[in-house]
Amino acid sequence: QTQAKIEEPQWTVRKVLSWTISYFKSHNIENPKSDAAILLAHALNLKRIDVYLQYDKPLCPDELAQFKALIKRRVRREPVAYIVGSKGFWSADLAVTTDVLIPRPETERLVDTALSVLPESEIQRILELGTGSGAITIALASERPDCIFFACDRSVKAAELARKNAVNHDVGACVHFFSGDWFSPLNPGLCPFDMIVSNPPYIRTRVISQLEPEIYKYEPMMALDGGTDGLDAVRHIIRSAPAYLVKGGHLLLEIGHDQKDDVRKIAEKCGCYEKIVFVKDYAGHDRVVHMRKKC
Ligand code: GLN
Repeated sequence: QTQAKIEEPQWTVRKVLSWTISYFKSHNIENPKSDAAILLAHALNLKRIDVYLQYDKPLCPDELAQFKALIKRRVRREPVAYIVGSKGFWSADLAVTTDVLIPRPETERLVDTALSVLPESEIQRILELGTGSGAITIALASERPDCIFFACDRSVKAAELARKNAVNHDVGACVHFFSGDWFSPLNPGLCPFDMIVSNPPYIRTRVISQLEPEIYKYEPMMALDGGTDGLDAVRHIIRSAPAYLVKGGHLLLEIGHDQKDDVRKIAEKCGCYEKIVFVKDYAGHDRVVHMRKKC
């Protein structure tokens, strides 16, 4: 009796993509198409665009095995950015690890607001608190390499990663990274900044576990948890910043979508600021507050 020859199905890029998209859909993964393409590009060491241009390329067993390991991680809700180790923000592709928050598109609103108010004239001295991957500072420095940047994070590992990202994006020379808790490494008398920016933790402690598992299972609590009302860090920064700002200096913070009224109260009560303005993100939420120290 002759053994029927079993044809191994050929796993092409096209077939793997469509299988993965259905698999992700059945696991309620939010962006099945783009996640599948990003992970496949990573497994095949291709640019994402090339995945779409090589639909008929067959995968070898090693490539398939490597890709399977990635999709298993994704259905356990690990964010794509941590799996592939990078995330696009502004014009840069930044290395990210679980030591840092994954940069969000709405944080680009903080960057463009900062750029729109930053004077062109003299060298501006800019401080970022809680820099994480360095996203905000690297975006600002890439647009304004004439300025000088100081960026701090409580996590030593985050500050190291941010430094690496800055060097990889050719802005290492105008940025100084250091670690420490908010303003604590700085001497108030000796640090007259023209601008302070931050995306501090602003989520209320009790709602963190209600966020998507991608966030609460994997992202650093330190970058998310803003205490009982979500405003512990925001309050601390608004109250402390005047001692570190020049007269007329700018403070810009990212805030939660429902925190506008509370943030306005905190800033007004402090008595040191004028021109408190809120800027909406692309989803229409009040996302950034900009205020200036009184002259
Ligand atoms: N925007 C983030 C989120 O909703 C929170 C970031 C932060 O607390 N700074 O997950």
